[in-house]
Amino acid sequence: MRVTRLEAVPVSVPLREPFTSALGVQATSDYGVVVAEADDGTTGLGEISLIWHGNGAALCGLVNRLLAPVVVGTDPFALTRFHEAASRVLAFGRHSLAAVAAVETALLDLAGKASGRPVYDLLGGLARDRVPLSMSLPIAPVDEVLDRARRLTGEGFTTLKAKGGGDHDRLVEVVAALRAEFGPRLGIRVDLNMACTLAKDALRLIRRLEPYDVLSVEQPLPAADVEGMAELCARSTVPIMADESVWSPGDAWRVLRARAADIVNVYVPEAGGPVGARRIADLCATAGAGVAIGSMPELGIGTAAAAHVAFSSPRLDQPSDVAGHLYHADDVVRTGLTIEDGFLLPPPGPGLGVELDPDRLAAYRIPAPDGGDPYATLRTTRAS
Ligand SMILES: [Mg+2]
Repeated sequence: MRVTRLEAVPVSVPLREPFTSALGVQATSDYGVVVAEADDGTTGLGEISLIWHGNGAALCGLVNRLLAPVVVGTDPFALTRFHEAASRVLAFGRHSLAAVAAVETALLDLAGKASGRPVYDLLGGLARDRVPLSMSLPIAPVDEVLDRARRLTGEGFTTLKAKGGGDHDRLVEVVAALRAEFGPRLGIRVDLNMACTLAKDALRLIRRLEPYDVLSVEQPLPAADVEGMAELCARSTVPIMADESVWSPGDAWRVLRARAADIVNVYVPEAGGPVGARRIADLCATAGAGVAIGSMPELGIGTAAAAHVAFSSPRLDQPSDVAGHLYHADDVVRTGLTIEDGFLLPPPGPGLGVELDPDRLAAYRIPAPDGGDPYATLRTTRAS
């Protein structure tokens, strides 16, 4: 099997409701859909899901101009060679990992379809029968957060993640209200998205959250403050989760070596693909750190990719956000993903187990955003 064509299509899909976090307000997911075609007529799908660096849609140019030329003509099973080639043309670009991830996902989809197996079988096989899910609660007045929590628990979700920002009093009030209303049966996670600047301030906030039995406090400090995160791990009784501090397997290695995370939230787009995400889960298993699978939130293709990682990881001891598609009003695929009583069931195969809807892809397609090829100037300069 050989790849004959590879294209990234920028799309903008609305969320059901705008979502506010410490990072701002998100009303649409502006991502890229990668379509890979093979010489036997098979189609593989990937998704550039990224809310950082001008969003995933802005990275379509990287796929179309830089990655497609090194992928077309190759065997989709040759993932190590793909990554070697990708790292040559996309050196030093952290954000480009999301474009690489989308292409790797499309190659895995092709390889799975060629072998008649779900992608999780290419990543180590099924390691569990179900994955506990967590849904996120936006930064909003306490009443609104509670309304959303009631709706989600009514749908069967047993873990919720409260987003925090600069207003720590509101966050503590939200967590206290969740615990008061739902009792011990609700798992409560807290995500600060780097809202604290000092480890001591973060520790003071964590101490205020301790009485409410929270499962974890996620990324209180800026991504680069590995020393601060390590200090929190040493001094907090609440487990500290790293998110923004860990993108690639290399980041995971540095954070785990510094003992700067009790738990790592692993993202397929940030890890450079499902294989890199599995590699981070392996590192965590080796280091004795907990693992959760995170979400941008992804559309259906990206959620399916995360699901195949979650079901094949050696360690997954935390509720995970593998339900990004639920935040969206519509999608470009039919996923076949099943959620029962707040648990995700194994995704169908072969491949990712998703089916593209060409009409919806056309409906949500947007013009290529400016800056789609941040390397264009560099290459022009080099050529002249
Ligand atoms: Mg997070």
